Amino acid sequence: MKISKEQIKSVNSRIAALTASGSFYGEKLKAAGISEIQSAEEFEQLPFSEKNDLRDAYPLGLMTAPESEIVRIHSSSGTTGLPVIIPYTAKDVDDWAIMFSRCYETAGITPMDRIQITPAYGLWTAGIGFQNGAEKLGAMVIPMGPGNTDKQIQMMIDLKTTVLCSTSSYALLLAEEIEKRGLRDKIHLKKGVFGSERWGDKMRETISEKLGIELYDIYGLTEIYGPGIGINCPHNKGMHYWDDYIYLEIIDPTTGKNLPDGEVGEIVITTLVKEGAPLIRYRTHDLSRIIPGTCECGSRFPRIDTIIGRSDDMMKIKGVNVFPAQIEEVLKAFPELSSEYQIRISHLDGKDTMRIYVETNGSVDFMDLSRRIAEKVKSKIGFTPLVKPVEIGVLPRSEKKTKRIIDERYD
Ligand code: ZN
Repeated sequence: MKISKEQIKSVNSRIAALTASGSFYGEKLKAAGISEIQSAEEFEQLPFSEKNDLRDAYPLGLMTAPESEIVRIHSSSGTTGLPVIIPYTAKDVDDWAIMFSRCYETAGITPMDRIQITPAYGLWTAGIGFQNGAEKLGAMVIPMGPGNTDKQIQMMIDLKTTVLCSTSSYALLLAEEIEKRGLRDKIHLKKGVFGSERWGDKMRETISEKLGIELYDIYGLTEIYGPGIGINCPHNKGMHYWDDYIYLEIIDPTTGKNLPDGEVGEIVITTLVKEGAPLIRYRTHDLSRIIPGTCECGSRFPRIDTIIGRSDDMMKIKGVNVFPAQIEEVLKAFPELSSEYQIRISHLDGKDTMRIYVETNGSVDFMDLSRRIAEKVKSKIGFTPLVKPVEIGVLPRSEKKTKRIIDERYD
């Protein structure tokens, strides 16, 4: 989906603001001699923004509006090094609430709903984002924040909560607790709105079944307002996003070139009206694709697919981009396999090869299993891997994140 004339106008106004404020991106553009763009082609030539640029601007280097107009900051939880600080104007806060309330509406939530918010409040964008959107919608907010499961369940019952906002893992914990205590008939939940961390279909089904609710995935990141820039609708074919506030591109993470609609790549976002800290062509490192065509729900807003992983995990094999999540999806469909696997990529006799080690028990015909898995992988990614079944317990386990991908080509 090429950028529209209207969106280009917005980008030019953000370019002007970024250049005037002397922020890192304004300086990048000055150095490149760019003061505005005229066409989609010119837009696609603009430099990217990266998380590191944002970190380098710590603490307030991203501030693009006068300080008298900044009303709040949020910060992303930096796992390494400095956090990123994002300043918001009153309009940014309001725009975010409008987008978020649109998310609730898309999920069929109304001013008569009672929304229990369990994500954290504070520097993080989650709790307060869910809250502002719900208030904008006119629903009743029950602002719990995380933890204290007893109190959560008590409020859920006494206040007849109809919508649960949560992380998927906390929702699962609550669902199990409610079942264990036999309180299922006492709760009035109808819907769950969850942050779009990657979560398996199995977990989704379990939560939905145990609580008897419809689930909605909300998309967003602190650098771009926070959660609330997109959500799935009841037809559940991808997430609608708000293209009057953000412009979204999909690029090949290796070459940086734009990909046609429908192809999987990295999500790049441009904020069209943000004042406090506008971002142009920000690389999210989230992988998805634009879903072509219009949704059965009739919404005019475009859609992206569920996030399938991070571009940092991408492997290029035989000229094809492969994501571990694609392999994982294939393996999940084989009930005879354990959850452990290992992918080894090597370069032998002038050719890239991919070996996939999977675990199964001795009662399975290894040859036959290997052939069946290889076929499924080929239909997913376009070439045939070598599949090596081993006995359960053979693959390495680790307390921390298990290393599943080993690329031996560059050793
Ligand atoms: Zn829809």
